[in-house]
Amino acid sequence: MSIKSNIVSLWAELAPRQCKLVAVSKTHPPDLIMEAYEVGQRIFGENKAQELVSKWEVLPKDIEWHMIGHLQSNKVKYIVPFVKLIHSVDSQKLLIEINKQAAKVNRVIHCLLQVHIASEETKFGMNHAELRRIIGSLPEYPFVRVKGLMGMATLTDDTNQIRKEFAALRVLKDELKKNKTNTSYDMDELSIGMSSDYQIALEEGSTMVRIGSSVFGERKYS
Ligand SMILES: *Cc1c(COP(=O)(O)O)cnc(C)c1O
Repeated sequence: MSIKSNIVSLWAELAPRQCKLVAVSKTHPPDLIMEAYEVGQRIFGENKAQELVSKWEVLPKDIEWHMIGHLQSNKVKYIVPFVKLIHSVDSQKLLIEINKQAAKVNRVIHCLLQVHIASEETKFGMNHAELRRIIGSLPEYPFVRVKGLMGMATLTDDTNQIRKEFAALRVLKDELKKNKTNTSYDMDELSIGMSSDYQIALEEGSTMVRIGSSVFGERKYS
């Protein structure tokens, strides 16, 4: 399989559900990203601020760069001038910093709130109480526009468990959309699904899947 054929077959699977493909290009060099770009893929996801900046610098400027990994507050300033969507907003502290740096460059930064849905302790994300508190505070951050939620399911072979975790996040998103406490956010996007579980995520209402290895092949960490 080639990057091109991987992308084309993923698009065909996602199109009937109007789900977007975020091609996760972390650890892969710009020339491989260009192979995906040449077929027409424009949304790419990275999980490190430094890597995001260095790829943005050398690659075509119509690429939509998404930050999908845990973001430290002190790195926010490097990505706000160009980032299209930050999937991984998981604290008030980070939100405050994004708003502050975005104001400096006069851009409204689109963000997703990352919710902890997995049974593992280690995955990042907020609990429901934090989530509701942050949503209540969004009118204070005019340079941040929340567009929806992001979550990562437990790393398990138990597809029922994965499905339950995704479904719970979709229910939460729908509830937050229906019972809005303020007008400073939208709840239209649901970023769920990776290479191993995107088909379940699609069935559970994903609007954006974040797929790395099924596009570019296995990652080699040096
Ligand atoms: C790496 C990564 C992905 C993609 O993982 P694959 O299993 O390679 O598809 C998705 N989401 C996040 C947050 C990641 O860090």
